[in-house]
Amino acid sequence: MLRWLLLRAADSEFLAESARGSATVNSVVERYVAGETVEAGVTVARALAAEGMDLTLDHVGEFVDSMEQAEQAAAVYRDVLERVGEAGLPAGVSVKPTQLGLLVDRDGCAGLVEDLAKRAAAVGVHVTLDMEDHTVTEATVQLVEEAHALGSVNVGCAVQAYLHRTPEDVRRLTRLGASLRLCKGAYAEPAHLAHQQAATVDRAYLDDARYLLREAAEPRFATHDHRLVAAIKREAAVLGRERHTYEFQMLYGVREDMQRALVADGYRLRIYLPFGSQWYAYFTRRLAERPANMTFFLRSLLAAGRPDRTDRPAEAGTEQTW
Ligand SMILES: Cc1cc2nc3c(=O)[nH]c(=O)nc-3n(C[C@H](O)[C@H](O)[C@H](O)COP(=O)(O)OP(=O)(O)OC[C@H]3O[C@@H](n4cnc5c(N)ncnc54)[C@H](O)[C@@H]3O)c2cc1C
Repeated sequence: MLRWLLLRAADSEFLAESARGSATVNSVVERYVAGETVEAGVTVARALAAEGMDLTLDHVGEFVDSMEQAEQAAAVYRDVLERVGEAGLPAGVSVKPTQLGLLVDRDGCAGLVEDLAKRAAAVGVHVTLDMEDHTVTEATVQLVEEAHALGSVNVGCAVQAYLHRTPEDVRRLTRLGASLRLCKGAYAEPAHLAHQQAATVDRAYLDDARYLLREAAEPRFATHDHRLVAAIKREAAVLGRERHTYEFQMLYGVREDMQRALVADGYRLRIYLPFGSQWYAYFTRRLAERPANMTFFLRSLLAAGRPDRTDRPAEAGTEQTW
């Protein structure tokens, strides 16, 4: 129930406005978001890279209303890739297809993905398409297929273990040679499309992970679940996979103890590093994953209604759901 409430709160413009104006909320947000600008993202990326971590930078936002907004989002990613190249950072980018206009102009979106893929290839990094809700799963898979058909083999996507269709997508995209990020899945999806029980999702995750460890060149396991991390390490060892042939991925600010331990033990770890001013929905999703934070968050929101509020205007058009 708490999770459901928080997921609904993530879509609330009123709460987003209140949160953006609250100094208290902003101070909590810093734990999960690198800052509002590309500069802030790259600065944190440098620090994490110095600690032996790889990165994937995410300019928070999604569901744009026009290709003009999609182009603006792409321009931010072009800037990121230029700076990543200049600094020689081990940092790819994570992009939401709807942020690049998937639901506005499908071919225009594919063109923007292709352009980013070429720029990313030029500096030796990956473009990962985040997986959003089920309405765009097939379209996202097809964007990856199209990129590969055009020769952009550095484009991959996330796959969500909770979806019934995912084992088939995993095989379809692995046959193509696409690098996949396996995650549990963050949206409230209906039972005919997705497993509903945590234990069933975990089992599905492990099944997909086993397949990827056997068949994929460079699988990426996105989870903070220590049982899954342990099971993947065990399975990889049984299969004789070297630690540098697969990677774990975790979100900036989540389970930092486990992040440091993995790096210290010689495992590859990539941090998903969000930045940008549209952080509210992303941040609320993170709280939904850990309801223990909810009391503090709600207190902060209430404080946002008091005089410390600065009433900054929201940017138009973009929100993010995970
Ligand atoms: C790198 C990365 C990329 C992702 N990309 C996508 C995507 O493209 N599409 C998508 O739908 N989802 C994505 N997700 C989100 C994912 O689907 C899950 O919703 C999320 O990772 C929580 O699942 P978990 O595997 O960490 O396990 P859980 O069982 O949820 O968490 C395991 C443990 O991790 C800790 N933990 C988890 N979340 C938090 C938190 N917010 N704060 C503090 N502690 C926490 C807790 O101790 C918890 O007990 C991504 C996640 C990661 C790490």
